[in-house]
Amino acid sequence: MDFISHALWGGIVAGRKSKKHFRQAFLFGMAPDVLSFGIFFVMVFGGMAERPDFRIEPPQDDIIPQIIFTLYNYTHSLIVFGFLFFLLWAIFKKPIWTFLAWGVHIILDIFTHSEAFFPTPFLWPISDYYVSGIPWSRPSIFIPNIFLLLFIYAWFFFWRKKAKF
Ligand SMILES: [Zn+2]
Repeated sequence: MDFISHALWGGIVAGRKSKKHFRQAFLFGMAPDVLSFGIFFVMVFGGMAERPDFRIEPPQDDIIPQIIFTLYNYTHSLIVFGFLFFLLWAIFKKPIWTFLAWGVHIILDIFTHSEAFFPTPFLWPISDYYVSGIPWSRPSIFIPNIFLLLFIYAWFFFWRKKAKF
């Protein structure tokens, strides 16, 4: 899924309590991609990696440096996520619920990445198992995703306030 959708899903699932919580969940929601693909784009920008051709579908992954795959394994594993969740809990002496946005990101990616391009290694490092899902760039996923987000945010900002849930 694109990182803006991830951030919006993270925000609405794990950050509804206040604006501060929303900002945190929004950032946690996009973090798994920012800390993997984001770094790749910084490398491309800095001339350290070749620029991929996005007109090719699926995008070529053979020019992506190995470090990005490694980072992707770390940031898209539910096992690493669980470990970090409890680590943050131990550090802050309370569960950081907004961090669940990170887990939501992984769960959405499991079903919206096919084996052709970065299938989600959600059981890494214990297992390389993945689900070959439907790529999020397909209109059958991308368009309903936008409408679902619009609908949920409309509910959150308008109807919910009126109905006083
Ligand atoms: Zn992702």
